[in-house]
Amino acid sequence: MSFTLAIVGRPNVGKSTLFNRLVGRRLALVDDQPGVTRDLREGEGKLGDIRFTVVDTAGLEDANDDSLQGRMRRLTERAVDMADICLFMIDARAGVTPTDEMFAEILRKRSDHVILAANKSEGSAADAGVIEAYSLGLGEPVRLSAEHGEGMNDLYSQLMPIADEYAKRAEANAPETDVTIDEDDDDAPRVPTAEKPLQIAVVGRPNAGKSTLINKILGEDRLLTGPEAGITRDAISLRINWNDTPTRIFDTAGMRKKAKVQEKLEKLSVSDGLRAVKFAEVVVVLLDAAIPFEQQDLRIADLAEREGRAVVVAVNKWDIEDDKQEKLKELKEEFARLLPQLRGAPLITVSAKTGRGLERLYAAIMKAHEVWNRRVPTAALNRWLTGMLEQHPPPAPQGKRIKLRYMTQAKTRPPGFVVMCSHPDKMPASYSRYLVNGLREDFDMPGTPIRLMLRGQS
Ligand code: GDP
Ligand code: GDP
Repeated sequence: MSFTLAIVGRPNVGKSTLFNRLVGRRLALVDDQPGVTRDLREGEGKLGDIRFTVVDTAGLEDANDDSLQGRMRRLTERAVDMADICLFMIDARAGVTPTDEMFAEILRKRSDHVILAANKSEGSAADAGVIEAYSLGLGEPVRLSAEHGEGMNDLYSQLMPIADEYAKRAEANAPETDVTIDEDDDDAPRVPTAEKPLQIAVVGRPNAGKSTLINKILGEDRLLTGPEAGITRDAISLRINWNDTPTRIFDTAGMRKKAKVQEKLEKLSVSDGLRAVKFAEVVVVLLDAAIPFEQQDLRIADLAEREGRAVVVAVNKWDIEDDKQEKLKELKEEFARLLPQLRGAPLITVSAKTGRGLERLYAAIMKAHEVWNRRVPTAALNRWLTGMLEQHPPPAPQGKRIKLRYMTQAKTRPPGFVVMCSHPDKMPASYSRYLVNGLREDFDMPGTPIRLMLRGQS
């Protein structure tokens, strides 16, 4: 995979049919990955030897007529912003419709690379429609039949130069590493690459400073939250190289800014938060130093933990704190009391406005991500377990000592460990906590949930 292709066009022109043809059965692999949103389907596409991400904007059927145009427009804009290339599809049998013209206008304004495809082109019934397609001002249409697989060679020829360009770019951007990534093994150690960037979401209550922080990270040259309202309006993610790490940042702030009605705000930001958490590998919970740990912050932090995401807590507006030392002590106490489930997550003070602390935030994010992906060798785990059992033997409920025999790491992202033991149902939660906290400390795993599963064995 090297670039993202979005398939756009009005309902029924054949977008899903092409999507399915490009993605084939590989969709199953990506379906449960973060980043797949309700109305944008994402899959791993393949055409000849070209690999790419495909985004499909189908799924508009449920909309009632009034809102269809608006939704279609928003969805398309979002897809265009996410994508490197747009494949704009019309139905050659139906010819060019006013809705097609509306799409063409959006694309001419918004997208750098557009491939125009005249679908349903098998047979001569489509000839007139193919000619009409030139009037859209997007160049020569590719004659396609998504259903019958015709025209795929022409599509390949159009994609080839673009694929080359992105492959070169990816090579130039890739961080130096000798870790090889097996694409099919979800448990493989993962270093962010241009194709699979680090996925971050910045969440927090309104006015915590999310937009300011994201803009600071993006750098001044990216006018993404400029005064022209609507630029980030529907963007769901922004791609950047953050200190040379290919990164996608989920921008909830940009979406929230859309809501003008105050009452809508709370609800909207909660569901944005949900989507952001699903998308992210690392969730940055951004707090306002003046009003930290509000209900909304606690809810989203808890959600991130339950969803198994790596979490970094950042306290913003640190520039206006007077007694920083005293405040930090207070914050740490509150953190431990209000979010015990996030024990071990880093707490970083930042100023989104001045940029202070951003390097520490970056380092904490990278560390949390690395730990989230980490695999501890079984031999080391069992040596460790022996020591833990000696130091503090497990309890003996009703005179029967619980025996812990063997331990292994069953999964990563987040790390999950299985302990084989007798009477797993009798194991007190405090002993599980002792083991989890020990794992965290002894293997240095801050900022990630750690799951411990007890398996019975007589
Ligand atoms: P979407 O709403 O744009 O995703 O469209 P679909 O992929 O669901 O297709 C709409 C209809 O067009 C379906 O009945 C498809 O079977 C049909 N269709 C898709 N591609 C072609 C094609 O190349 N030729 C013909 N004749 N029909 C097609
Ligand atoms: P969002 O709603 O979370 O996206 O918050 P914004 O980024 O829009 O910021 C809300 C307000 O806080 C704005 O007036 C910002 O200028 C201000 N702000 C953001 N970060 C900082 C900071 O680090 N220090 C100070 N003093 N103000 C900040």
